[in-house]
Amino acid sequence: MEELKILQKTEQLHEAAWWEAEPDERVHCYLCPRHCHIHPGQAGFCFIRINQSGKLYSLGYGAPAALQVDPIEKKPLNHFLPDTRVFSMGTAGCNMGCFFCQNWDISKSRSDQVRSQHVPPEDVPLLALKHGCESLAFTRRTSISKPLPRIFTGRLR
Ligand code: SF4
Repeated sequence: MEELKILQKTEQLHEAAWWEAEPDERVHCYLCPRHCHIHPGQAGFCFIRINQSGKLYSLGYGAPAALQVDPIEKKPLNHFLPDTRVFSMGTAGCNMGCFFCQNWDISKSRSDQVRSQHVPPEDVPLLALKHGCESLAFTRRTSISKPLPRIFTGRLR
């Protein structure tokens, strides 16, 4: 269990949401339809949610592996803020296993296998505005989960 601390990219592990404790320090993650039952010291199918000592933590919180400025036309949207820039970000790991994934090096990696960096969530809109972006997109990995749609794009102003 101690070696999991090596995976830690943020200043402190961030406890995940959408999980419940099970006997023998196992946890049941119900963030997505996979419903992983994770033993201590292991990660879920997505590699990004880990069980440490009977608690579920999210390694992706505040730790994006990809930050990029894209033209909004790259997103699957129709006439949304045309001719503007969008601030794209994504973390390591994904709860899908598509053979054709174009971002497999990120989506099938743990956060310690890619160059994820600590970016506090409250800094993200400021970074986007600094780079002339009018919107934010969570992308690169196309996870399906309960609280978020597959691709979420939000306007900043
Ligand atoms: S794949 Fe990840 S998000 Fe989905 S249930 Fe498993 S641990 Fe939770």
